[in-house]
Amino acid sequence: MSGLVDAVPNGRPGSAARSLIPVYRPDLSGNERAYVLDCVDSSWISSIGAYIGRFEAAIAGATGARHAVAVCNGTVALHLPLHCLGLGPGDEVIVPSFTYIASVNTIAQTGATPVFAESRAGDWMLDPEDVERRITPRTKAIMPVHLFGAACDMPALMEIARRRGLRVLEDAAEALGTTLGGRQVGTFGDAGSFSFFGNKTVTTGEGGMVVTDDDELAARLRQVKGQGQSLTRRYWHEVLGFNYRMTNICAAIGLAQAERLPAILAAKRRFARFYRQALADLPVSFQQPLPGVDSADWLVSLLLPPGTDRERLMAEMSEAGVETRPVFYPAHHMPMYRSDERFPIAEDIAARGLSLPSFPALTDDELDRVQHALRAALQAQGKG
Ligand SMILES: *Cc1c(COP(=O)(O)O)cnc(C)c1O
Repeated sequence: MSGLVDAVPNGRPGSAARSLIPVYRPDLSGNERAYVLDCVDSSWISSIGAYIGRFEAAIAGATGARHAVAVCNGTVALHLPLHCLGLGPGDEVIVPSFTYIASVNTIAQTGATPVFAESRAGDWMLDPEDVERRITPRTKAIMPVHLFGAACDMPALMEIARRRGLRVLEDAAEALGTTLGGRQVGTFGDAGSFSFFGNKTVTTGEGGMVVTDDDELAARLRQVKGQGQSLTRRYWHEVLGFNYRMTNICAAIGLAQAERLPAILAAKRRFARFYRQALADLPVSFQQPLPGVDSADWLVSLLLPPGTDRERLMAEMSEAGVETRPVFYPAHHMPMYRSDERFPIAEDIAARGLSLPSFPALTDDELDRVQHALRAALQAQGKG
């Protein structure tokens, strides 16, 4: 995935001005090193250890969820609750076509069928009206995806789910810290999933978390992520399980990150405001979250003017020392999910969307270089 490239730390602080400003670079300047050394020194490096419970408590505290269950990546943080909610062959799950592929793959991995729905212009989120149109007698669940730090219209989606008897799993991989009406995303549905990949708001290297208020579901998640072993009797396996456990080392990094979550979010929100103000005169359209949404601004993303050659613009910005990244391709264009159905809004966002450098340690000087590079690259195409 392009995210792997984004997370490579290239462009060290203090190096020449022409070093590439990456789209993302994790900030590990807090207690990360001390906590990892503590794991090594104590030999608690595997999936038992005090940091796991402490990191789970930190994420439960940050989101307001009753339970937080740590797992080894954001993808299994989706697959595990889908499996534990009982989804399987013959069931349909409604998911936006415009999303990262893990949302769709995890539905297919249960044997259920992903059913694509359209996104909305403006906030780029799953369109509740289109969701309603796609419900059939086989529909069992909806997976809203909170992309780039924005939030889906959860009141509308939860109302549909209640009325039609559907489960809701929120893919909040990109939205740790985002609130809607003051409530954290990931806590509206039956469960919510977060990713802690290297370019996510909080990182553990690879990691994920499932949050839920449902005691029974939380117990099932804990059992199934550990090979289905009984929670009270060792080597007694009662149900089909997986090894989806997080290591204590990852949780140690995550705890140190979570301690600084308010500072990380404040930094990201500050440069999101900067970009929006500095580029207000350009013919670009930033993702516009719904009223009442306080975006975590995971990756500041915008639509280029129609007719822009995105490849050329990205190459020119890269020449100027600024890495950018295209948004996701729509899932219905991928070979394994290919469909001739049209999703015009999702296709338009996918074709014109661009994400700007959005890591917490961006300096004012770097922000300025990004906006000048975008300005110049647009002008070169007569779009400035
Ligand atoms: C990152 C991401 C995931 C998967 O997370 P991994 O930790 O990379 O497995 C799932 N959904 C979305 C929308 C993501 O951005």
